[in-house]
Amino acid sequence: MSIKYIDDLDIKGKRLLIRVDFNVPLDEMGNITDDTRIRGVLPTIDYALDEGAKVVLASHMGRPKGKVDKRLSLEPVARRLGRLLKKDVVMARDCIGDEVKKTVDDMDSNYVVLLENLRFHIGEEKNDESFAKELARLADVYINDAFAMSHRAHASVVAVTRFFDVCGAGFLMKKELNFFARAMDNPARPLVAIIGGAKVSNKLAALENVIKKVDKIIVGGGMAFTFLKALGYDVGKSLVEDTLIDTAQKILESAKERNVKFYLPVDCVVADKFDSEAETKIATVQEIPKDWMALDIGPATNTLFAQALQDAKTIIWNGPMGAFEMDAFSRGTSAMVSHVANSYALTIVGGGDTDVAVNKSGELNKMSYISTGGGAFIDLLEGRPLPGIEALKNKG
Ligand code: AMP
Repeated sequence: MSIKYIDDLDIKGKRLLIRVDFNVPLDEMGNITDDTRIRGVLPTIDYALDEGAKVVLASHMGRPKGKVDKRLSLEPVARRLGRLLKKDVVMARDCIGDEVKKTVDDMDSNYVVLLENLRFHIGEEKNDESFAKELARLADVYINDAFAMSHRAHASVVAVTRFFDVCGAGFLMKKELNFFARAMDNPARPLVAIIGGAKVSNKLAALENVIKKVDKIIVGGGMAFTFLKALGYDVGKSLVEDTLIDTAQKILESAKERNVKFYLPVDCVVADKFDSEAETKIATVQEIPKDWMALDIGPATNTLFAQALQDAKTIIWNGPMGAFEMDAFSRGTSAMVSHVANSYALTIVGGGDTDVAVNKSGELNKMSYISTGGGAFIDLLEGRPLPGIEALKNKG
């Protein structure tokens, strides 16, 4: 069952409801500090306008939990979007109701209306049918271009599709799903997964799924220490999930059975406390001091991981190699950014922290693709169906 994309549908002169993710970061004055999310959906909006459609955009912002909170109004987004599109964007006072419907009905084709924050209504996060039905009153065709929200069964993502005969996805969604499919369904091999981050528990399902597909797997970050403990190393006060040691062992066995090469750190940066001012030194994994904790991968590991990546044709990466928010523990992650950026592979980087780490190193443009979804990207890695995508299936 496939989904239709906006360019497969007849949208000429139609009213389009496009779900986007305009949940941009704001500073304390309410100014947008990063408009990447707005720029990400411009191709879809431009295409719809070129086709002479009326564009109605719907998004959430922050977590107002069903109450109107002026600080989380999408007004600053409407202004920025207007500047980027070089045309006026009409800011609706709400996202549902007769007044909004009149605003939409009164507008000419080729205009853009931005609905007010969907989460000012409790029905949004509850996937409420009557709220979804109200949203659906505003348009003839529904387009989802909010990949980062497609793992959530919210009204504007799932329930709303029940009230449209014609539904599809936008170009950002197309890009996300196509890159992911190129990496995981029919990849150029060797395919290498790099999985990092704090805990095994957060990435367990992803590890279990990717191990079935990859040729090599590189594990860094805090989660590596549960694996090292499972192999019998004494890892001092490093982050370990004792309840997952058996699971870690099983994952290592499963990798061996499948002939997947499993790489773990061989040395690390250890610290006497979890603090940017901590005393630090380099230790091999055999010699982590009892009262110290490992907060980054070490130089020998950087060399090892670079060597493991040198013949990779496809690399998929999620999660930092260390507590990279603190400079003292950021070198392993920066080194990994540069190995991945300089590889001759198709490189796909998962959103969230990994995206931040790549940004920090300034190598953004050297990656083939950086996902716009944190949670949604992990769900794809886990092989889990995304409710927002499932809802679009069979909806031409
Ligand atoms: P995740 O959200 O699971 O990708 O984890 C990201 C977080 O893991 C970041 O905030 C890092 O600071 C943290 N992290 C990475 N490596 C370590 C480590 N060795 N010890 C503790 N925290 C870590």
